Amino acid sequence: MSEKRFVYMDNAATTRTHPDVVSAMLPYMTEFFGNPSSLYDFSREPKKAIEHAREQVAHAIGCKPEEVYFTAGGSESDNWAIKGIAFANQKKGKHIITSSIEHHAVIHPCEWLVSQGFEVTFLPVDEYGMVSPESVAGAIRDDTILVSIMFANNEIGTIEPIAEIGAICKERGVYFHTDAVQAVGHVPINVDTMNIDLLSLSGHKFHGPKGVGCLYIRSKVRIEQLIHGGGQERKRRAGTEHVSGIVGLGSAIERAVAVMPESNTQIQKLRDRLIEGLLTIPHSRLNGHPVHRLSNNVNIIFEFIEGESILLFLNQNGVAASTGSACTSASLEPSHVLTACGISHDCVHGSLRLTLGEETTEEDILYVLEILPGIVQRLRDISPLTPDELRSKKK
Ligand SMILES: *Cc1c(COP(=O)(O)O)cnc(C)c1O
Repeated sequence: MSEKRFVYMDNAATTRTHPDVVSAMLPYMTEFFGNPSSLYDFSREPKKAIEHAREQVAHAIGCKPEEVYFTAGGSESDNWAIKGIAFANQKKGKHIITSSIEHHAVIHPCEWLVSQGFEVTFLPVDEYGMVSPESVAGAIRDDTILVSIMFANNEIGTIEPIAEIGAICKERGVYFHTDAVQAVGHVPINVDTMNIDLLSLSGHKFHGPKGVGCLYIRSKVRIEQLIHGGGQERKRRAGTEHVSGIVGLGSAIERAVAVMPESNTQIQKLRDRLIEGLLTIPHSRLNGHPVHRLSNNVNIIFEFIEGESILLFLNQNGVAASTGSACTSASLEPSHVLTACGISHDCVHGSLRLTLGEETTEEDILYVLEILPGIVQRLRDISPLTPDELRSKKK
C-alpha cells in the first residue's frame, strides 16, 4: 500500500487560484487600490484594468467587451439573467423553460418566479442527462420569454446541445440563457455562432478567484437590473467593482482558453483511465454521457452503499471528492440530477463524483484506484443491502 497523500479531486466545486493569476491581482489591492469611479488620475489604473479584463472575457467567449458585466459570481449571474429577463419581458409573456438538472442557482430563482405568478416548464432529460433540442422546440409557446439550459452539468459532466438549442430559440424569437460555469476552460464557447443571448460564468471554476463572475448580455436584450445602487457597469450592476477579482477573472479566462487544447487532452486521458479502473469494481456504473462529457468529470454509482460513507473513507485517506454538487453534499437529499436521469432511489445515494484538474497526476489516479476498491468492499460488507455473493468470504 502506498503512503497516504493529498489528492484533490473536487475541481467542479472549486479550483486553486493559479499563481500567475494571483500575481496579476496583487497590485490592485496594494498599489492601485483606487476606486475606479473616482475622478482623479489615481483611479485611472484600476479603471483601465477592468476594461482590459472585459476584453479578455469578450475574446474568450466571442462577444463585444461592452456586452460583459461583472458580478459577484455564478449564482448572481444566474439570478440576474432569470429574474432580469422575467421582469423586463412579462408584458410579452410569463412562461420560462429550463431543465430539471440545472444548478440550484437556476432552479431556485425559477421556483421563486412561480410564486410571483410566472410559469416554468422543467424539461426532462434522458438517462445520460441530455436535454433534447426537440423537447425545447416543443415546449416553446407564444408567451415563452426565456429558455435557460446549462452548458455542462456540474454533477455528471454531460455537455448539452447548446448550439442546436440556440438556433431554435433564435428562430422562435425567445431569449436563450446558458449557465456555462462548468464549461469555461473545457469546451470552446462562441456566443455568436451558438446563438446565446445571456451566459453566466464564474472565476473560481477555472483557476480564478472566488466571489467574482460575469454575465454576458447580448446588446439590445431587454433585462431589468438585479442590484440597484450606484452607476457602475454602465448603470446596470451597482456596487464598487471588485477590481482585483475582476483582474484575476480576466487573467484566468485568458489563460484557461489558451491552455485548453493541451490540458483537456491530458485531463481526459487520466479521466478515462480512472473510469476504466473504477468500472472493474462489480456493480458500478458511469453516470452522465459517455462521450458528450466534460473532460474532467467522473461520476460513478457503486450499488448497495452510500456515497457519503465513501467520502468519509476517502477523506481519511487524503482524497477530497464529492457525491454530487457541493451544495447537496451536506443535505443527504438524493441528487435531483441523478433522479432526473431516472436512476432508482436506492442508487442515487451511492454515487461518487471525482473531478480532475490541470494539477491531477498519474500518481493521483493510481492512488485512488488502489484505495477505492477496498473502501467499496468494506462498505458493502457492512451494508444490509449487499447480496451475499458480493460479501468478503469469512475465514
Ligand atoms: C459553481 C456553479 C455555480 C455557482 O457559481 P458561484 O460562483 O459559486 O456562485 C452555478 N452553476 C454551476 C453549473 C456551477 O457549477
